[in-house]
Amino acid sequence: MSVIALSNICKEYKMGEQSFLALDNVSVNIEENEYLAIIGPSGSGKSTLMNIIGCLDVASSGEYVLQGKPVKKMTETELAGQRNKSVGFIFQSFNLIPRASALSNVMQPLIYRFISAKERQKLATQALEKVGLGDKLHHLPSQLSGGQRQRVAIARALVTKPDILLGDEPTGNLDSKTTNEIMSLFDELHNDGHTIILVTHEQEIAEHCQRVLRLVDGKVVSDTRNSEERAYV
Ligand code: ADP
Ligand code: ADP
Repeated sequence: MSVIALSNICKEYKMGEQSFLALDNVSVNIEENEYLAIIGPSGSGKSTLMNIIGCLDVASSGEYVLQGKPVKKMTETELAGQRNKSVGFIFQSFNLIPRASALSNVMQPLIYRFISAKERQKLATQALEKVGLGDKLHHLPSQLSGGQRQRVAIARALVTKPDILLGDEPTGNLDSKTTNEIMSLFDELHNDGHTIILVTHEQEIAEHCQRVLRLVDGKVVSDTRNSEERAYV
């Protein structure tokens, strides 16, 4: 069973009288533990596809089955629950709360869970240890480097123990050395069993993933598998 099964997905944005087809009949199956890159020119629909995969947005037509559950049949509450359980998001701009410590930032997604503050703190500490920041729990984002901030954001995505990690240009703001470190972390998470999907402009990152989906004008124009060799390890 595919973790993510998209069939004939279209996404139309309506703006007054006008409408724009951002995704045009996209069909893709993604299996458990795949390591996939989504590439394509700016405006080709990459973010739109990620938002649909991550249940932040819904398709205008077509069918999306996430971990065996048709998304169309879910209520708003069920969708929010599924999103919270299945996917972790990592963005280019980190999106951390500036006045909150690394620990508080990582505890954030657990606020809606019925668990004690002590348990939240324990899980957040474990997630920060996982990304190599066990000694920076009380640092503010401004006291961390770009790579460390992205590690906090990855810990925040990991803390709910999602199966699927979605990164929208997760290394877009990082230099090449830091990019390598973050890609090594994604490799480790892939080895741990996570399904990893990254939107990227960078050819090197696409080559590093196991499978590359290319979008142009909202259509999938190629879907290829890289050889087992990895550029960053
Ligand atoms: P990419 O991530 O590949 O740059 P996007 O998915 O962000 O592409 O956007 C695809 C197309 O859809 C673009 O032409 C963009 O202008 C349009 N678009 C994206 N989001 C919206 C929106 N909320 N409303 C209207 N048009 C949008
Ligand atoms: P990127 O190319 O870095 O993926 P974009 O700049 O294309 O990002 O878009 C970022 C986000 O802004 C999109 O996910 C979309 O929700 C929103 N967006 C993009 N284009 C438009 C638009 N024309 N109108 C409204 N929102 C848009």
